[in-house]
Amino acid sequence: MQVPATFQYARATGVEHAIELLTRYGPEARLVAGGHSLLPMMKLRLAQPEALIDINGLDELTRIRVDGGELAVGAMVRHAGLLASAVVGEHFPVLRDAERMIADPLVRNRGTVGGSLCQADPSEDLSAAFCALRATLVAQGPDGRRVVPVREFFLGPYETVLGEAELLLEVRVPIRSHASAYRKVERRAGDWAVAAAAAVLELSGGVVTEAGIGLTAVGAPRFVAEEAERYLCGGPPDEERFAEAGRVAGEECRPSADQRGPVDYKRHLAAELTVRALRAAAARAQGQEA
Ligand SMILES: Cc1cc2nc3c(=O)[nH]c(=O)nc-3n(C[C@H](O)[C@H](O)[C@H](O)COP(=O)(O)OP(=O)(O)OC[C@H]3O[C@@H](n4cnc5c(N)ncnc54)[C@H](O)[C@@H]3O)c2cc1C
Repeated sequence: MQVPATFQYARATGVEHAIELLTRYGPEARLVAGGHSLLPMMKLRLAQPEALIDINGLDELTRIRVDGGELAVGAMVRHAGLLASAVVGEHFPVLRDAERMIADPLVRNRGTVGGSLCQADPSEDLSAAFCALRATLVAQGPDGRRVVPVREFFLGPYETVLGEAELLLEVRVPIRSHASAYRKVERRAGDWAVAAAAAVLELSGGVVTEAGIGLTAVGAPRFVAEEAERYLCGGPPDEERFAEAGRVAGEECRPSADQRGPVDYKRHLAAELTVRALRAAAARAQGQEA
């Protein structure tokens, strides 16, 4: 039986209180949201926090709302809540596609958007999707609030720019005219990605004016294929350009061989899934369901 090391436990009653508790317990304290990443790591003794600060009582972080032309998703929104949200489904199919394939209903009922991003697991689906959308993150710590572009949030595997006593409050994405899709290959339903790609296209006059390509599980720097994004801009959203963008995206990846496959296979998937996600987004832009 795997049992975590002993730890202290405190339940936060609000954002300020959570920050106060993090400050009081010091650098070995950790927030716990859904617990679906942290608790398994504690059982394996890969994480041994001295104190857990439970933020499950922070109702102010559980909302999905439209605010000033932006979608604002609270850090404590569960995967299931994001999947069920009508406004998310209407404006951000890339998030709905991704959520449909994250784990299983048990995990989706507990795991949170904030926990997913803050865990910074290199195979996380929402990290790639929010990076493709160029989301911004609102965090609060002892020195007040700050806004961080999601593309500057990840420092590397399991590492983010958040300070020791800082809390992610919400994720914000501008609601604008764009089309999007997410495509993932997993070994079996509910598994982590072997590889996955998120595509976001803004189109005007038959030309791509902005492209977002997020990749997960394939070692893309900060979950993004920037060269492929640049390549797409200024040209038509057609098969030839998608194929080249996929090839470029595959080259930008630095996958590692593991039980999910060898490097060449993952690079191939990154390229192919980029093409499929772009194709699906372009079809949606024309009103076709993909
Ligand atoms: C069986 C299984 C299958 C899974 N499959 C997938 C999958 O296919 N795709 C996928 O993307 N994910 C998958 N996951 C991960 C799942 O999405 C988790 O819910 C998620 O990674 C972490 O969310 P959580 O709320 O459980 O975070 P927790 O485990 O509570 O926390 C994770 C980390 O984030 C920190 N944290 C949490 N909230 C905040 C906050 N607001 N501010 C600052 N720090 C915070 C914690 O301190 C901790 O370090 C799977 C998990 C399991 C158990």
